[in-house]
Amino acid sequence: MATFLFDSIVFGPIKSRRLGISLGVNLLPCNVKLCSFDCVYCECGMSKKGETGKLPTREEVKDALQLQLSQMKSENKKLDVITFAGNGEPTLHHQFAEIIDDAIELRNEYFPNAKVSVLSNSTMVHKQSVFDALNKVDNNILKLDSAIDSTVKLIDDPHSTDYSVASIVEQLIRFKGNFILQTIFLRGYVKDRIVDNTTDEEVSAWIEAVKEMNPKEIMIYAIDRDTPIRTLEKISHEELEEIAERVRKEGYKVDVA
Ligand code: SF4
Repeated sequence: MATFLFDSIVFGPIKSRRLGISLGVNLLPCNVKLCSFDCVYCECGMSKKGETGKLPTREEVKDALQLQLSQMKSENKKLDVITFAGNGEPTLHHQFAEIIDDAIELRNEYFPNAKVSVLSNSTMVHKQSVFDALNKVDNNILKLDSAIDSTVKLIDDPHSTDYSVASIVEQLIRFKGNFILQTIFLRGYVKDRIVDNTTDEEVSAWIEAVKEMNPKEIMIYAIDRDTPIRTLEKISHEELEEIAERVRKEGYKVDVA
């Protein structure tokens, strides 16, 4: 159960199979998870009740990013992508939009060929400033782990009682295809209940949601590292490929990790 929290604003660079050489940006408190979900597979571990921390300011993020980018440039290092991820949901930061503008500006100055990516759980896209900022980045990677509400409840445990798949699908349609859909496939037991988003019913519902949202690309993956809950099973690459084939037949580009 070795989960992991970042202890800095900027981390890496690390080699990501999907994104390349990636410099991470953590907009959440150091060493504390802050998220609008509590996914059973979260590499940050489960949220701890009442735990809070100080968010970095816009200026702190800009300074930390600039320092790292200028150092990498002076050392002739390679960079493929600046990735907003870290200890939770980056779009929860109240200055997310301004921070994205700063990151794009710094990227243009130091590594104009690098991409800016955001990994988000889609829960804040109803906020216009978040929507607009996500629309500006190169890789707007948005999560939907199931098209069935009860399954999302088990896998992702959204904090908001207002969360519904229908409302998220409605919000993602607004991007008019300018996003990459990200879905994990898993099965196992959560709180003594079976969870399995690989069944025919689940995959069929998910494909229908994909067709409604129409992402430019889809990333599907399985559990890779340690998870806070041990009763989960890693789906085989062959099974992921079978799911990918079903959605490729609908004309979508799918990356299997
Ligand atoms: S959305 Fe990401 S950070 Fe939040 S609980 Fe899920 S996996 Fe963890």
